[in-house]
Amino acid sequence: MRKHKDLLAVLRHNRQRVTPARRFLLQLFIDNHSRSLSLPEIQAHLQDRLPGINRSSIYRNLEMLKALSIIQELRVVRKGRRYQFVFERPVHHFIICKACGKVSKGKRGFFEQVERSLQDIHDFKKANLSVTFYGFCSRCRVG
Ligand SMILES: [Zn+2]
Repeated sequence: MRKHKDLLAVLRHNRQRVTPARRFLLQLFIDNHSRSLSLPEIQAHLQDRLPGINRSSIYRNLEMLKALSIIQELRVVRKGRRYQFVFERPVHHFIICKACGKVSKGKRGFFEQVERSLQDIHDFKKANLSVTFYGFCSRCRVG
């Protein structure tokens, strides 16, 4: 799969070793690119394939993928931490309701407005908009 190879190239470029755990992790995110994954889900997947792999090593690998902007961490009420594949997506911001935990993906139009404001207000361009907004959705809002 081409994407898998691209991601391995990103790791190597950033002087990260390509280990079996990292290969499985990348493939898991590619296969589930349209949804976010929970920590227990990720752990179960890796422990099936690499018996004996410990949680802290899984966690360190997730931190590394986060640092390389391959995945983004979302903290969702009642669902805990979730991880979303965001590699090469121009828009990856999420809007999360603090009351019901509903996660919505950001829309392109919003991103364009933010880009314009970044330029007008901060004279800043080509930002990687990796942001999570926490608030209340229309159903959970009071008043
Ligand atoms: Zn809500």
